[in-house]
Amino acid sequence: MGGFKESAITSENDQDVDICDHCGEAIYSGQVVWKVGSEMYCNRSCLESGIQIVTLRV
Ligand SMILES: [Zn+2]
Repeated sequence: MGGFKESAITSENDQDVDICDHCGEAIYSGQVVWKVGSEMYCNRSCLESGIQIVTLRV
């Protein structure tokens, strides 16, 4: 009897390559992300809240 384990990985094309440093969302190969220093953000609103960017009229 071998200790054989089947892996549940079925996707070929959309493997996650990283994780958003702000919300923990998986970042997939080919996805456009924002990077600030070594921090990775999965989308723009994540980036804005992550580094506290505000848009204001002065
Ligand atoms: Zn995110």
